Amino acid sequence: MNPIVYAIPVFMVSILLEAWIAHRRGVNTYDIPDAITSLNFGILSQVSGVFVRVFTFGIYVWTFDTLRVGTLPADAIWVWVVALIAYDFIYYWVHRFGHEINLMWSAHQVHHSSEYFNLSTALRQTSTGAFASFPFYLPMALLGVPPIVFGTVALIDLLYQYWVHTELVRKLGWADRVFVTPSNHRVHHGQNDYCIDKNYGGIFILWDRLFGTFTEERDEEPVVYGIRKPLASYNPVWGNLNVYADVIRKSLNAGSILAAARTWFDPPGGRGVALAHLDPQSVKKFSTGTSRGMQHYAVAQYGLLAVIVTYFLAIAPALASADRMLWALVIVLSAMSLGWLLEGRRFARLFELARLVTLGLMLAFFAQTSF
Ligand SMILES: [Zn+2]
Ligand SMILES: [Zn+2]
Repeated sequence: MNPIVYAIPVFMVSILLEAWIAHRRGVNTYDIPDAITSLNFGILSQVSGVFVRVFTFGIYVWTFDTLRVGTLPADAIWVWVVALIAYDFIYYWVHRFGHEINLMWSAHQVHHSSEYFNLSTALRQTSTGAFASFPFYLPMALLGVPPIVFGTVALIDLLYQYWVHTELVRKLGWADRVFVTPSNHRVHHGQNDYCIDKNYGGIFILWDRLFGTFTEERDEEPVVYGIRKPLASYNPVWGNLNVYADVIRKSLNAGSILAAARTWFDPPGGRGVALAHLDPQSVKKFSTGTSRGMQHYAVAQYGLLAVIVTYFLAIAPALASADRMLWALVIVLSAMSLGWLLEGRRFARLFELARLVTLGLMLAFFAQTSF
C-alpha cells in the first residue's frame, strides 16, 4: 500500500488546523486559491508518481539485484542511520542542482511557485522531477542499501520536510543551525536577494554550512516568497510545464546544437548573469479576484477530490492499466477544472459541469461493478 494514503488525512487535518490558528492570530499566511493550487500540484505529483515510481524504483531494485558490490543488512540499525544520512547528503546536491541547472529547475520550480508559505506549500510538488534526480541515488543501490531501507529513508526525508513549511513557528535557536527548520526553510523559499540559492538541506542544514550555502533568516527583512518570474496561474499542468517551455524556447534561439544543449545546463538566471536586485516592497501577489462563493465551492470540491485521490492511490496497484490511466486522466482534468474556475476562465463553468457528469457516471459505474 502506498504510505502516502495514510499521510493524506494527517495533511488535511493539519492544514485546516494551521489555517485556523493563523486566522485566530491574524497572520495572513493562507490564500484559498493559492492553497487549492498547491494541493492540486500535490495530487498531480502523487498520481503521476503511480506511473513514474514503477520505473525509477524498478531501476533501483534492478541495480541492487544485479550490480551491487556488497550487501548491507536490513536488520541492523546502523545501516538505517547511515542510509538516512547518505540519502540526505545526496538530497542536498540533487536539490542544489534543482536550483542551479535549468534542466532540474524546470521540474523543481513547481515547489517554489507559491507566493505564500504554509503547510499546503509543502505539498506543492513537481510531477516531473524524478527522472533527472533518481540516478543520483543509484550509488546507494551499488553499495548494497536494500530497496526497503532506501524506500523508507526516502519517505522519512520527504515527510520530515512537511512540518518546516509554516510561518507559525518562528526561530528555534541551535536547532536552526543543525536541522532544516521553519526559519531556515522560509529563507529557502524567499526571493529576496539574500535568500537566493540558500538552505538546500532536507533534514540536516549542516550540509549547507559545510558547503557554504547557509544563511540565517533576517528579522529586519521579511521574506517575500515565490520566484522571480511568477507563475501567475492556478493551472497545475501549466505550472509543471511552463519553465520547460521557456528553456525549449531559449535553446531553439541558442544558435547551434551545442549552445542549445548547454542551455539546459545553464543556471536559471543565465550563465554569467549577476543576480538582479529585488525590492521586496515591489512584489505584488498573484490574484484573479476569485469570488468568495467560488473559493468555497473549490474547497468543497477539493475535499471530494482528495477522497477520490486517496481511494485511487490505495487501489491503483490492483487496477488494470487502462482503468488506471482513465482514473488518472479524470483526476488531472478535475484539478485543472478547479484551477480554471479559480482563474475565472470563460469556459470553466461548462467544463466543470462536464467533469461532474463524467465523474458521477464513473463513480456510479464503479460502485455497480465493485459491490
Ligand atoms: Zn528548492
Ligand atoms: Zn520547501
